[in-house]
Amino acid sequence: MTTTPHTQQQLDEILTTGLAWLYDTVQPDNAHASHHGIVLHHPEANRWYGFCPAGARNLPVVSVDVTKVEYKLDNAGDSIPANPLEPGELRALADELRRRGLDVDNTWNGHPGKTGSVGIVRPAHPTLIAAVDRYRRGCTEHPQRSVFCDCEAWRAESARIIHPPRRPAVSVS
Ligand SMILES: [Zn+2]
Repeated sequence: MTTTPHTQQQLDEILTTGLAWLYDTVQPDNAHASHHGIVLHHPEANRWYGFCPAGARNLPVVSVDVTKVEYKLDNAGDSIPANPLEPGELRALADELRRRGLDVDNTWNGHPGKTGSVGIVRPAHPTLIAAVDRYRRGCTEHPQRSVFCDCEAWRAESARIIHPPRRPAVSVS
């Protein structure tokens, strides 16, 4: 990854946007959100960032992934990422989250892998936690289908989640 002031500024915006979704966004009391949360893309850096409200330990996890992974063979002939996360990249992400006032209690993976994640101690906004609980409860009209329901009511509940505003540099999936 080539870090320039421009890509750094975009990462700052992604973190601001994602953390505002996790911590400052009031979700409707008739919406549900998957515990996977949202993904914000950083195409110029070949990265995407995940903001998961309830990951490991049921607390938020911010993750960074290489978007387009290239592979090469190591000396043993095994396929490994040729463009993994940079050494120190995951640590820098954890440091930046700390700088923003969040206690970090763990990191997972990182260089030489293609994914890394940071565990945050502060729980997500209560209304987002409630929305994740509503997801885990599953469809109330078709309990036997649980979270795999595709009826109108279940999809409408999902569609009512408030997402971050879309920006040119940041797409939501
Ligand atoms: Zn249903």
